[in-house]
Amino acid sequence: MSTRPCIVVTGASRGIGAAISVRLAEAGFTVACLSRSGALPTLGGVAAPASELLVPMACDITRTGAMVEALAELTRRGLQIGGLINNAGVHLDAPAASASLAHYEEVMSTNATSVFLACQAVYPYLAERKNGLIVNMGSFFEKLGVKRNLAYCASKAAVGAMTRCLAVEWAGDGIRVLAIAPGYIHTDLNHEAMTAGPLRAYLDKRIPGKQPGTADEVARLVTALFTMDVPFLSGETITIDGAQGVAH
Ligand code: NDP
Repeated sequence: MSTRPCIVVTGASRGIGAAISVRLAEAGFTVACLSRSGALPTLGGVAAPASELLVPMACDITRTGAMVEALAELTRRGLQIGGLINNAGVHLDAPAASASLAHYEEVMSTNATSVFLACQAVYPYLAERKNGLIVNMGSFFEKLGVKRNLAYCASKAAVGAMTRCLAVEWAGDGIRVLAIAPGYIHTDLNHEAMTAGPLRAYLDKRIPGKQPGTADEVARLVTALFTMDVPFLSGETITIDGAQGVAH
């Protein structure tokens, strides 16, 4: 059993969350890998080998009380909760003039309300330790106006705002809160769009290095945040976008 605490990762079955889970386990953390399916992290179509450091668990983060129950179960299993990564998210688009309320609520509930619920649920564990780190997955869309992306952009702006508010309110409890704002990240799911067609042409034009980032690059950044000892770093949203956001 690891001497490092357990980090809870939502949306850990694939994509960025799977890469984060595998990198954190390599760094010696026990990782609670939450997703609706409860599957082990899968990268490049291959499930990570079973390991006592990867603890898969089914948990739909949009259900009120789901995170409270998941954390209680992990504690029953003897794990010490030391951090949370709110990574799960959906990216659905629709024209603003005709988007349904159901569409808006699905995006807000998965990407933003779940962050509020999960942070509230983990607070007593981290406050008791007087030490903890929460990392929320935002997006560089949080500061942009993007056609057909009203709900997604609003949800990610909410993630940035919650990150700042919680960092201020919980600093006295020894809890730090950060957000990551990835630009375009190549994952198994978007492989086709990232390698061919109009998006590929757009990336060539807009990303200075002409390549999207990888899930593993985001994972290495997040793992560094959990392994480096910098107590003064809190409340910030860290952009990882290959300089796309600052390019003129
Ligand atoms: P994927 O679609 O590849 O993976 C999403 C993960 O979230 C899956 O593990 C999925 O598992 C899980 N999930 C979805 N809904 C729920 C739910 N209700 N409860 C629990 N788990 C859920 O996403 P990415 O890896 O691409 O993105 C991860 C995060 O990074 C998201 O927040 C996204 O907005 C953000 N991001 C991604 C970018 C990119 O280019 N890929 C760019 C900027 C930000 P399951 O279906 O089993 O529940």
